[in-house]
Amino acid sequence: MAETLFSKIINREIPADIVHEDELCLAFKDVNPQAPVHLLIIPKKQIATINDIEPEDREVVGHLFLVASKLAKDMGFDDDGYRVVMNCNEQAGQTVFHIHLHLLAGKPLGWPPYTDRQKQA
Ligand code: AMP
Repeated sequence: MAETLFSKIINREIPADIVHEDELCLAFKDVNPQAPVHLLIIPKKQIATINDIEPEDREVVGHLFLVASKLAKDMGFDDDGYRVVMNCNEQAGQTVFHIHLHLLAGKPLGWPPYTDRQKQA
């Protein structure tokens, strides 16, 4: 599987603002934040898309959510609310093919995630 820039962040070959690391995952600030808090939580195991998750990955994928919840509590926005999103492939806007949870918080987040104009198209 081709290396992505997220492997390079895990291996410290390129810098990132890391907020959490453990044996299974890494969390760091998104370089192009879409909310006051925008973190990416990635497994250390390279899995390209949601479609590539295998049954043996259930622990690591579940762990990403536990870390999202821990970070929300540690950073104090667990009660106010937050969103976790994982994009899969082109139409969802996935650009880095190493699965990652976006953790967004710090403002009211719009829902649903498409506009009226897109609905008509
Ligand atoms: P996605 O579009 O779901 O694949 O999300 C990829 C995310 O990675 C985007 O939100 C980018 O802003 C973010 N990103 C790309 N390069 C970096 C980087 N070097 N450090 C932190 N975040 C990055």
